[in-house]
Amino acid sequence: MTSPLNTTGPSDAEPSTTATSTTDTPAAAPTEPAAEQAAAPAAEATLTFADLGLDDAVLKALKDVGYETPSAIQAATIPPLLAGRDVVGLAQTGTGKTAAFALPILSRLDSSQKKPQALVLAPTRELALQVCEAFERYATHVRGVRVLPVYGGQAYGVQLSALRRGVHVVVGTPGRIMDHLEKGTLDLSELKYLVLDEADEMLRMGFAEDVETILADTPSDKQVALFSATMPAQIRRISQKYLNDPEEITVKNKTTTSSNTTQRYLVVSYPQKVDALTRILEVENFEGMIVFVRTKNETETLAEKLRARGYSAAAISGDVAQAQRERTVNQLKSGKLDILVATDVAARGLDVDRISHVVNYDLPIDTESYVHRIGRTGRAGRTGDAISFVTPRERRMLTSIEKATRQPLTQMRLPTAEDVNATRLSRFDDQITAALGQTERIDRFRDIIGHYVAHHDVPEADVAAALAVVSQGDEPLLLDPNRDRSESFVEQRERPDRGDRDSRGGDRPERRQRPSSGPMATYRIAVGRRQRVEPRQIVGALANEGGLSREDFGMIDIRPDFSLVELSADVSEDKLAKLADTRIGGKLIELRPDRGAPGKRPRTDGPPRSGGFRDRDDRGGDRPERKPRY
Ligand code: AMP
Repeated sequence: MTSPLNTTGPSDAEPSTTATSTTDTPAAAPTEPAAEQAAAPAAEATLTFADLGLDDAVLKALKDVGYETPSAIQAATIPPLLAGRDVVGLAQTGTGKTAAFALPILSRLDSSQKKPQALVLAPTRELALQVCEAFERYATHVRGVRVLPVYGGQAYGVQLSALRRGVHVVVGTPGRIMDHLEKGTLDLSELKYLVLDEADEMLRMGFAEDVETILADTPSDKQVALFSATMPAQIRRISQKYLNDPEEITVKNKTTTSSNTTQRYLVVSYPQKVDALTRILEVENFEGMIVFVRTKNETETLAEKLRARGYSAAAISGDVAQAQRERTVNQLKSGKLDILVATDVAARGLDVDRISHVVNYDLPIDTESYVHRIGRTGRAGRTGDAISFVTPRERRMLTSIEKATRQPLTQMRLPTAEDVNATRLSRFDDQITAALGQTERIDRFRDIIGHYVAHHDVPEADVAAALAVVSQGDEPLLLDPNRDRSESFVEQRERPDRGDRDSRGGDRPERRQRPSSGPMATYRIAVGRRQRVEPRQIVGALANEGGLSREDFGMIDIRPDFSLVELSADVSEDKLAKLADTRIGGKLIELRPDRGAPGKRPRTDGPPRSGGFRDRDDRGGDRPERKPRY
């Protein structure tokens, strides 16, 4: 079997999938490009959890949870851990590292022994609780296993009584574990497994001394697993001092490029994903879509939710019989179905031209899966769109993805109620236009309406409006922007944690991937979301007509009826004049300086300043002329 991972001797380089931390990562980079070291992804395809040698009760729980295949870090870590080896795993959150250590521990626990057998040290209370939950989920069918979170801030009483009753796995923060050890309330004399989770984070938080004390004061024959996103010198030293000939495991990723797929991401917390997806479905101009989730169970749940919202959606996963899967894919091909909710395994090799969008509802556990997923769109020479939902904890995964695809991902904002309404109005207009094309039927109804108008003395527009009410039923046509819940979405509140990324949320314009750093001027063009314009069309049209280059573009903010485009203040009058007659989608763009600013170059005061757009536009001023009263 070819492993997707390299298992190597100690190395100072961090894995190619993790973000580089300038403070504690040695400057050394992997000596070979990751692409050359990577094994073929196909090797992962056939590997199952059962192949790894896990206990049957654990396998049963994994079936319930709905994981299809082991992640790369799991595939490489579980066998040596089951064989009793110490392990150093370079892995970050989101790669499935929790299961990588929890599953082998649970496979070998002796539930008759009442003293703690496993101790997991985690840097924060939040992570400790998360790890506990994961253990409990994976232990559903392992009889009698008790897992206890032990963290600072919680009353000692609860922890003491649980410890007295007996627990098998303790998951705690180093400080509180030390307190218990000093008080003699935690007996680690029978400890068999010790895990340091997010070790670099623990050191960063000042727990180095506590961690070393715990490592030194526990039985010397215990098995140790150390997981860390980076490998600073201090961790290497700890590993050399306290681990016994550890196997070091590093995920290596194949890099690739997919130039005809636009990649965007949205920061959103888990409970808000369904609403976020619904809004995206409303405003994105999609033909066919695959929505990727992580577990088999989630495919059906989400497809059901989408169907309840009126979309034609179906689920496929490894559990769905082959014949049924083929039927579903054929429906997608023929346009009977628009949305497929799928797991990685089920969508492997899927080749359907009309897939215009891939949504990573859950980020994949490794970048190879990401590359494979977005490869389902942009087929047959078409362009594609990939949108990834990223929870705040998963932000670091973005860096790995950018490295693997050699392309930056652009942050998108959650579509607002006004965006959704503009799209709905545009569709409504399209329906009227299409109906007007049915001339015979229109002729017949014209007589009926004419009769009504003559007898009731009401304007024809009122009759048309009344018919719209009839066709719309009780469901309002438009969302109420005053009750727009998008404001509470997590992306709007997120504090930027990556210096190089535009992580401001809210009603902010999308930033082009490489905005100009010089002074910018803001222009308005007469095409917006209602004309279904996209940033790349604007850039394409302006660049072609005006001979502009990528560096000349700053923010592009697509509004319901117009768009604001930042262009370098250095763009010559000549070039701007050439843009006067530019059309996008057949409509003259009428490029002009944005209102409210003096002269032709309204703003030439340095790098983009997006806030101004919001203040000016969202409250009066340039609001779309239609009010949402339908
Ligand atoms: P972790 O890196 O341990 O924080 O795990 C990240 C997420 O991946 C969690 O939501 C897990 O439930 C999920 N996960 C872990 N292993 C797998 C797997 N083999 N397949 C699908 N999802 C997984």
